[in-house]
Amino acid sequence: MIKEYVKGKPYFCDVTEKIQSFPYLDYDISCDCLIVGGGIDGAITAYYFAENNLDTILIDKNRLGFLNTSCATALLEYQLDDHANDLKRFFTKEDVVNIYRVGLNALKDIDLIIRKLGNKCQYNKRDTLIFSTKKGDKKEIIREFEFRKNNKFPVYYVDEIHNPFPFSLKTGLLAKNGGAEFNPYLFEKQLIDYIKNKIKIFENTEAKQVIKKDDMFEIITNYGVKINCKYLICCTGYNSLLFTNKKLCEKYISYTIVTEPLKKKLWNGELLQDNSDPYHYLRLSPNNRLIIGGEDILFKGDFIKDKDAVKKYQMLKQYAIEMFSQLEYVNIDYKFCGVFSTTKNNLSVIGEDERIKNLFYNLGYGANGIVYSIYGAKNLVNLILGKSPSPYLSFFFSTSKITIKQ
Ligand SMILES: Cc1cc2nc3c(=O)[nH]c(=O)nc-3n(C[C@H](O)[C@H](O)[C@H](O)COP(=O)(O)OP(=O)(O)OC[C@H]3O[C@@H](n4cnc5c(N)ncnc54)[C@H](O)[C@@H]3O)c2cc1C
Repeated sequence: MIKEYVKGKPYFCDVTEKIQSFPYLDYDISCDCLIVGGGIDGAITAYYFAENNLDTILIDKNRLGFLNTSCATALLEYQLDDHANDLKRFFTKEDVVNIYRVGLNALKDIDLIIRKLGNKCQYNKRDTLIFSTKKGDKKEIIREFEFRKNNKFPVYYVDEIHNPFPFSLKTGLLAKNGGAEFNPYLFEKQLIDYIKNKIKIFENTEAKQVIKKDDMFEIITNYGVKINCKYLICCTGYNSLLFTNKKLCEKYISYTIVTEPLKKKLWNGELLQDNSDPYHYLRLSPNNRLIIGGEDILFKGDFIKDKDAVKKYQMLKQYAIEMFSQLEYVNIDYKFCGVFSTTKNNLSVIGEDERIKNLFYNLGYGANGIVYSIYGAKNLVNLILGKSPSPYLSFFFSTSKITIKQ
């Protein structure tokens, strides 16, 4: 059964310059590294592999960048969905500081890639704001603010008296240079344009079967051809069942609407996230559209229900109007939703399978999926080249936090 993971009209791939098409694989082939999955996480992984001269093939069962990548709102941030205090089941305070630094370093790496390849993906560095309109959230936000301030992250506290934003709030935490934004589809296009002559890329090529043979893998594709590789890298997003029977994440549906271009900028462009449950996240596009997402619900069954989506898009518009009354008569140009995976500890799934040697995962689960796939790609290169990975990598694939599927 093919599960339906994206629905609607995604804004990010509605661009004139699409990622170029690649042929399907119709002959047997060998390589050192096979990356399965050509969404943004697979493309990021392929970029770092190519930069390190690893003999690599990238395959995707569909077109590159058209699944969850096309609907990721790409608020690139170091902060997590949960606050430091909510993560104490999993991490010490020092761990959380290191995890925030992992995110900040990944943001620097994205910046380095843009410097090298140019900015053709609407990339901007941004400050980030977590805010709440509820007085009762003050204590929680202040605690997170104090934690970050005491650990030397550049943060500012905002409240209703000192509120530089053109919308009301009771409490907020502004992180200076805490984030960035881009069009994820165009970022992937840039990566693919750069690596297409360094690695082999095949579309419409599905990994159907994985056979482990001594120290090699044999992958059988949908056309029955074989790919032999030493290292197998799973970047299949929310489809990991071919590689592991573990339940690696909890699946939700996240909904997004994008307005028509607005005459006036609604605010200065900071990346916004409220403190509600389910939460809302907002950002602006370069031509002044409001992009607002959230209203997540648990993904049950195999399909995204139209009825739910219609209701959720209305709720998002209502939320936006309550924040900015001038949006009442504004048209919504794009409505879309996608399955979004979260893990209990907020981190992505990155690392080597604990039972199958040389099978690696770079699965950008969680709200920082893109950011962490940068960290993941760099660490997988290190593991394959026999170099020491980051000391925090074990946080990203800790079996104690993963439940075995019954
Ligand atoms: C609604 C939403 C909002 C998000 N917002 C953010 C955000 O603000 N910030 C952030 O950092 N991250 C965000 N993310 C997460 C981030 O986008 C993820 O890292 C990303 O969606 C997953 O990327 P991917 O490349 O793994 O997935 P996909 O784009 O889904 O790519 C997986 C690819 O694998 C292919 N594939 C699957 N199985 C096989 C197979 N057997 N053989 C060959 N190919 C296969 C599929 O065809 C697909 O193209 C968001 C995600 C969603 C869904």
